Amino acid sequence: MHDHSDRIAESWAELVDTARRTVADGLVVGTSGNVSCRIKDLILVTPTGVPYDRLGPGDLTAVDLEGRQIIGSLRPTSELPMHLAVYRDTSATAVVHTHAPYATAVSTLVTELPPVHYMAGALGGPVRVARYALYGTDELAGNTREALRDRTACLLQNHGTIAYGDGLGQALDRTAQLEWMCRVWLAASSLPGHTPSLLSPAQLDEARAKLDGYGQRD
Ligand code: 13P
Ligand code: ZN
Repeated sequence: MHDHSDRIAESWAELVDTARRTVADGLVVGTSGNVSCRIKDLILVTPTGVPYDRLGPGDLTAVDLEGRQIIGSLRPTSELPMHLAVYRDTSATAVVHTHAPYATAVSTLVTELPPVHYMAGALGGPVRVARYALYGTDELAGNTREALRDRTACLLQNHGTIAYGDGLGQALDRTAQLEWMCRVWLAASSLPGHTPSLLSPAQLDEARAKLDGYGQRD
């Protein structure tokens, strides 16, 4: 029998794996960043300030869409307002927030990541930078909502990244693609006397449309 509680336990194991991957892949140091996923009206979240390698099945932490704790006794991530804002606004089933180094560097330099690569199309278009606000605040959640309009990822000024998707794998992959694009832009713009060429809105739209059919068909 595969009941609801099995599904929740499996999702928790996948969430913990994803949080560990953010550290292993260099997107996060220590307990920075946070991860969540949605099963119907239940939001599973990483607890605040707990190293991901210490999280086990007994640490399951879950809230409802209003942020009320439904499962567990560990305090949920301090960025709960930001995660809940994404679930209220979109059909996301997973959200990943990191302090990825190249993305964080770019967030201090521009208000939008210059579109140097067509993979910006995979995130909905040119990636915006949400205005700075103190971590864990409703203000940061509001600024993030604005920057995410028609996008599946954005940068957070002087802070990091947030990406969402249909499943933890997609949210993590979008985070990694964003970090990679920030790295490319920084490399291309670091040569004195040279300015990277950028893609036009039409070129990005064309890529976005083609990316809808990218990969293997079922
Ligand atoms: P938490 O440990 O509360 O998830 O906070 C980490 C973080 O990145 C805050 O922005
Ligand atoms: Zn953070």
